[in-house]
Amino acid sequence: PMQWTHRPTWLEIDLAALRHNLRQARTATGPQVAHFPVIKADGYGIGAIAVAHTLEEEADGFCVALVEEAEQLRTAGINKRIMLFSGLYPGLEERAIRARVEPFLSDEINLNALWQAAKCYGPISVHIKIDSGMARLGYHPEHVPSLLDQLAHMPELKLAGLVSHMACADDRHSPITNAQLATLSPILEHPLVKQTQAQLSLANSATILGHPNAHYQWVRPGIMIYGASPFFPHTNAANEGLQPVVRWVTHIQRIHTLEKGKSLGYGHTFTATRPTRIAQLPVGYADGYNRLWSNKGSVLIAGQHCPVVGIVCMDQIAVDISDLQGEVKQWDEAVLLGKQHNAEITLENWATELKTIPYEILTRIGPRVPRRYR
Ligand code: PLP
Repeated sequence: PMQWTHRPTWLEIDLAALRHNLRQARTATGPQVAHFPVIKADGYGIGAIAVAHTLEEEADGFCVALVEEAEQLRTAGINKRIMLFSGLYPGLEERAIRARVEPFLSDEINLNALWQAAKCYGPISVHIKIDSGMARLGYHPEHVPSLLDQLAHMPELKLAGLVSHMACADDRHSPITNAQLATLSPILEHPLVKQTQAQLSLANSATILGHPNAHYQWVRPGIMIYGASPFFPHTNAANEGLQPVVRWVTHIQRIHTLEKGKSLGYGHTFTATRPTRIAQLPVGYADGYNRLWSNKGSVLIAGQHCPVVGIVCMDQIAVDISDLQGEVKQWDEAVLLGKQHNAEITLENWATELKTIPYEILTRIGPRVPRRYR
């Protein structure tokens, strides 16, 4: 992300809220469980390096999806353990070892290539990813015993643990989670698993908060630390004791009046039915302000909701401020996401309206929106 711009549009990030949310995860599991916050995709758009530095003392390590993401953290001086979900692509074996990541091995990974690299560049800790029902990546449970035997002959590949991922944990009542646990239990009895004291990890945020029987040795909290409920749309973040982390703010660039009968923006999709006061805001779809908000979204100005009028442009939106109570002037603050005075637009509000999930909202706030940490 850019460090500085003169455009008065940025994403404010509350680092204390991030810490609070990790503590909520710890409270849910108890102190004996290790926490490896998920900071892939640039920390869900918040900024992986800042998140890592903020949580470094309290986290046992971190999880990423790509070797490049791990390298970025190492370059920034992060020395904790880093788990690598799926990103061990052919040709990256040496870089994975040098970055000291612990890859999740799935059945498409060329074990032999990793082993040869480990003989050259040093040993690497690995986790066996088991497909217990997500049907995305991972070894079929039946193949795990023979894989364990194979690994026993590859001493440079150190078995650190077993991992799996829950498909339906966001529904607290789904029977699928227990079915997945049942699929895994025979593997946990395998003598090599016991001998190596391999650690088990299954839990994302929803599993942490909703399934205490599936915490095991270490957990992978993601969305909850960024201040959204993993049970969306069934509960909101506040109900889970989570604090909002982001505030996306911009400032009024121009105030003008659209006469009755006049139209504005591309396609003239909004026509004033009365003299209409318009505030132009310097943010657009190139920043992640979704074009689906055209004639539909709202932003907060002076703690009040103002409707978006016309089509969302690449760098600009227009809002109707005719009904605002009180004084509004150029360069006053407008909030796209987060709190202003007593009003709030939540990630959940965005996700509901745009028919998506809070994860996608966060990760789509574009790189040209500077992140400001406080
Ligand atoms: N574990 C794995 C393997 C994941 O892919 C993810 C995120 O997609 C997580 C954990 C974190 O999930 P959440 O953000 O729902 O906590």
